[in-house]
Amino acid sequence: MASSQRRDEPSEGILKTIMNLRGLNISEESTFDFEPPEQWRPWPGARYGQESPHLQFAKATKATRAKHAATPIKPTRPAKARKPKAASPVKQKPSQPSTLRGVIPQRVPPVRLLTLPPELRNRVYELVAVHDEPQYPQLRPVLAKGRVNGQRLSDDRRFPLEPSLALVNHQLREEVLSVFYGCNRFIFKNSMLLPSFRMTSPTMQKLWKAARPASHYLQQIELHVTSQRLPLDYAVTFKIKRLLDGGVEISHDMAEKTSYCCCLEDSAIAETMIQARGESDVMHVLHILCTKRNVKLADVAVWGEDGLYMMPATRCEHCEKANVRLVGGG
Ligand SMILES: [Zn+2]
Repeated sequence: MASSQRRDEPSEGILKTIMNLRGLNISEESTFDFEPPEQWRPWPGARYGQESPHLQFAKATKATRAKHAATPIKPTRPAKARKPKAASPVKQKPSQPSTLRGVIPQRVPPVRLLTLPPELRNRVYELVAVHDEPQYPQLRPVLAKGRVNGQRLSDDRRFPLEPSLALVNHQLREEVLSVFYGCNRFIFKNSMLLPSFRMTSPTMQKLWKAARPASHYLQQIELHVTSQRLPLDYAVTFKIKRLLDGGVEISHDMAEKTSYCCCLEDSAIAETMIQARGESDVMHVLHILCTKRNVKLADVAVWGEDGLYMMPATRCEHCEKANVRLVGGG
């Protein structure tokens, strides 16, 4: 206050000087003529007295500090030896949410793929494993690490690749691969680029199946074989479908497309159905069918270097229908 008084003195002097110069008189009373109402409490008020909260707080802190300083340092006991503290009556009271800090919400358990309901998991598997375009099972030669006598080693890789999700654990493998093999369209056909890896060949089919044990999930497969009667060129499609009762159904579209003779194919299918009675593995049925076809074609036609059988006559000897000139074999 002393400093403010010192500051006020010259200003009061200046004020007086100015008032005198202007011919005005200013008294001490007129300078401080404000009287506070009686109901006003005198400054600084009760809350800044001895009972002031901040003074109480300061006292408590001082006392706590002194107590801690007086306590001798005890050796730390192992955590197991500590008895659980009895809950104080204050803690037992239902806690009221603080308006200042807010209520901490219960932590929501994380959502994991395997804790989802099966319907939702199947939806995820469909997104990961089901493709719009057909899948072509193949064996492709790829270069492997290492050399023998200067020659690079090669390895046969199986396609299509299975979804990576199937590598996580046993349960995911079963579930993902059942969707992958059960819902995609698989077509076995020969590739023009890989003439030595004919997927219509029973040998190659057996190798592919051995590398893909989960292929027993296949519900339906197709076999595309080339058949030609120049200048026409088309493919015959065989469909092997697993039925609900456990059996297998084989059909082909040769009769639908043309009026060509298909008695050879029909008899191969009939023999396959007899041999594969009670069989539900479509890959095994495919293997039998391709073997039967090859035997029948080899009986009547000449095997060409291009992988097609050349039929001896333009008309079928049995049904007198127009014959297919060239027929694809395994
Ligand atoms: Zn015929």
